[in-house]
Amino acid sequence: MNTETTREALLQAALDTAGRGWPVFPLRAGSKLPALHGAGGCPASGDCVGGHQGWEPRASTDPDRIRQAWRRAPFNIGLATGPAGLVVVDLDSPKPGAAPPPQWARLDITCGADVLAAIAEQARETVPATWTVATPTGGRHLYFTAPAGAELRNTQGDKGRGLGWLIDTRAHGVVAAVAVSSRVRVLIEALSAAMRRARSSTLCVSSPDAVDAAGAAFGGLRR
Ligand SMILES: [Zn+2]
Repeated sequence: MNTETTREALLQAALDTAGRGWPVFPLRAGSKLPALHGAGGCPASGDCVGGHQGWEPRASTDPDRIRQAWRRAPFNIGLATGPAGLVVVDLDSPKPGAAPPPQWARLDITCGADVLAAIAEQARETVPATWTVATPTGGRHLYFTAPAGAELRNTQGDKGRGLGWLIDTRAHGVVAAVAVSSRVRVLIEALSAAMRRARSSTLCVSSPDAVDAAGAAFGGLRR
């Protein structure tokens, strides 16, 4: 898949995501870092005219702004999970050679999806069926509506209030990179391939002009 096809696939995925009412913003091509300017490089215009705004309030569902940004470069897609009212549960596969912690190894558990199923079973629950997206690294993102009245933030693995090994959660104040967005399996696979390619070094190169023009739609890029 060439750069142009990748860019189109990412644009379409960004529009699909925004079409669900979930605000998006550009991430640097091939990365999970916001492609938006920071406080230091703030132009004090657009969204920032009344003072610098972080990426969360600058995320948008406006198709025109999204087209304007993704017209220029194959940006990855950042999803503002907090403003979208979502909690995304990120189920990973282990890194090559990583050994499961003893309590999971005993149960022959080797991936985040298995850990979540085991936690649910221990709580006498089942993992509810929900919007699920395959990630380029062999994991899965499960999208849930955030519970009312609780502002959940992120968790990582089994640290602190985390759910468990190979399970991260994304809610307020963190970037979730959209892996893929489509109901059609064939398209999911095509887009997964696009995302894989978008992460390769050759597609990480965007001309500074293209990056600036794209970022202008979202209030200016990082300098
Ligand atoms: Zn600003």
